[in-house]
This record gives sequence, C-alpha cells and structure tokens, in this order.
Amino acid sequence: TPRIGVLALQGDFDAHIKMLRELGAEAVAIRLPRHLEEIDGIIIPGGESTTIGKLMVVYELHEVLQRKIRAGLPTWGTCAGLILLARETDNSMAGQPLLASMDIRVRRNAFGSQRESFETDLSVPVLGEAPFHTFFIRGPQVESVGPEVEVLATLDDGTIVAVREGSLLGTAFHPEVSGDTRFHQYFLRIVQSMQR
Ligand code: GLN
Repeated sequence: TPRIGVLALQGDFDAHIKMLRELGAEAVAIRLPRHLEEIDGIIIPGGESTTIGKLMVVYELHEVLQRKIRAGLPTWGTCAGLILLARETDNSMAGQPLLASMDIRVRRNAFGSQRESFETDLSVPVLGEAPFHTFFIRGPQVESVGPEVEVLATLDDGTIVAVREGSLLGTAFHPEVSGDTRFHQYFLRIVQSMQR
C-alpha cells in the first residue's frame, strides 16, 4: 500500500486523510521534516496559501519539501496547495515562501466576488465519463501552462482548473469534500506508476 503524506499545517487536511484511508492507502499527517522520510507521495491541501507557506518555513519543512518535490516526489496541490506548487504566481504572492515546482502560472482568488465560491459538474476525461461534482472555494485559476503540462479539466469558458505535469497534479478546487474518490484514486495511480 502506498504511504501518502498530507501536509497538516493549516487547511483541509483531515478530509484528505479520511478519503485516502477509505481507499485503503496509508495516510500520514505531515508536520515535521522527519515525517517526510517514508512517504511515496504528498498532498498539499486547500486553505490559505500565505499561511501554509509561512508555517512551512516555521516548521522547517519548506526547503526539504521543495527539494523532494523537485527530485520527483509525486505531489498533488489542491487550491491553496496548487498556488504553492506553481512556478509563477500573481503579485499577491510576491515575497511569500512557495514550492515553485510546476510549470504553470496561477492567479489567486481569481473568480471575482460573485463566483468566489461555487460548485459545478466538471468533465474530467481521465476520470471517466461521469462528471466530477466539485466545490470551488475562493480558488485560483491556472492562467498558462508550460509545454510539458497536461490540462485535465477546464470550465465551460475555457478556464483551466486541473493540470498534470509528470508526477505533479494540481486542482483549483476541493475534491476531498465531494464524496467522489476518483481524483484521489487517480493520484494513487500516479504514485504507484512512479514506484515502478
Ligand atoms: N484563497 C486561498 C488562497 O489564496 C485558497 C482557497 C482554498 O484553498 N480554498 O490561498
């Protein structure tokens, strides 16, 4: 069974841990550098990207995690986690600690006030035909992607909201609150394919 870390400094980490356990994976809350030693993959949850970034520095996780991600640790960033994973962000993240590992540019809180939070049925071909019902909670948008990045899902207007680059996965929404485990299963398959 794969052992998946969930960065547990702030934000929606508990729901990810529950969902991973439901799927039979081992899930470990990551709070200290030594917790990173025996994991096969990690989820950076939604929450507040600036807070998670600062806490990563305080808990001495920032450098070691960035190094591991860049060395190929399968990593899934959701919402705030996606912002932290992006190589480029808007100015609101200037001077913030970031993981800066995925070849995408994101804009924080990009859905304006009336759609800041909304739910929608998303078509995600890699998950099969049934739409994925999901929740956007003051989420970011992916503004552009590099040549190695695969777009996994867009909204009807073309806005990019799910991406993959090799062992890195990013979603602008919260798949852990939907009750649908297919995104977590997809991440587990990425982790398993990297172990071979
Ligand atoms: N708005 C948050 C941020 O900028 C992200 C929200 C979320 O993770 N649900 O970090």
